[in-house]
Amino acid sequence: MDLVVFSGAGVSAESGISTFRDSDGLWEHYDVMDVATPEAWNKDRELVLNFYDERRAQVINADPNKAHYTIKALEEYFNVSVITQNIDDLHERAGSTNVLHLHGEIMKARSSVDSELLYEVDNGIIQLGDKCEKGSQLRPHVVWFGEAVPEMEQAYHIVAKADLFIVVGTSLNVYPAAGSVQFVRQHVPIFVIDPKDVPLPEGAIHIKEKASIGLPILAEELVDQYRSDQ
Ligand code: NAD
Repeated sequence: MDLVVFSGAGVSAESGISTFRDSDGLWEHYDVMDVATPEAWNKDRELVLNFYDERRAQVINADPNKAHYTIKALEEYFNVSVITQNIDDLHERAGSTNVLHLHGEIMKARSSVDSELLYEVDNGIIQLGDKCEKGSQLRPHVVWFGEAVPEMEQAYHIVAKADLFIVVGTSLNVYPAAGSVQFVRQHVPIFVIDPKDVPLPEGAIHIKEKASIGLPILAEELVDQYRSDQ
């Protein structure tokens, strides 16, 4: 059975990584236009690099939480695919084997002239003067506002095959990623785990809990159901 988990910043909140829109979220401290757009990059590369260096340091110092581990544990019973809007690597560090990052990966750098050229970020920072093999400045491997989301097509295919669909920790506000939900087939159960009210896909069941509480509760139900179906 194909189980697809669609995750957002909320799944990593309990690991201490700031979300964007909660009251202590990142946008309180930064103007997104100054740090997460191609225009920002053209205007002040150092500011953009520093912003992402800070994000990367936060990720390096964080650990996966119970929600990430629960998603990994579901692999024992289901064919699990994780589609995440997160740029952190906490799903991978919890052991999930099948993770698609829609908005890139903070632990990687990429060429600013050839998006195929990816590099691990050594010692946690990208500096002005760090260049790809074609001689261009390295940038964070993240999708900025106003940029295309190259993995979207692949995400739609994965979502369209889901037999169970779990949405966790996303305000479903950032498009086109949030549009993935529309590709879930009719009658496929959709569960949304979020402590706040979020726009619910039609027919979805809202588990109004933090990810570390809601995911284990849901996982237990799904595994019980799986066992009784065997
Ligand atoms: P968002 O900030 O818009 O929404 C976060 C959602 O998580 C909210 O609905 C909030 O109620 C919920 N939430 C907060 N704490 C939670 C918890 N403990 N358990 C479950 N849910 C919780 O985030 P988004 O929808 O992912 O979109 C914002 C964009 O920000 C994404 O594109 C993402 O790439 C980026 N982002 C990523 C990270 C990361 O990599 N960890 C962090 C911040 C932002």
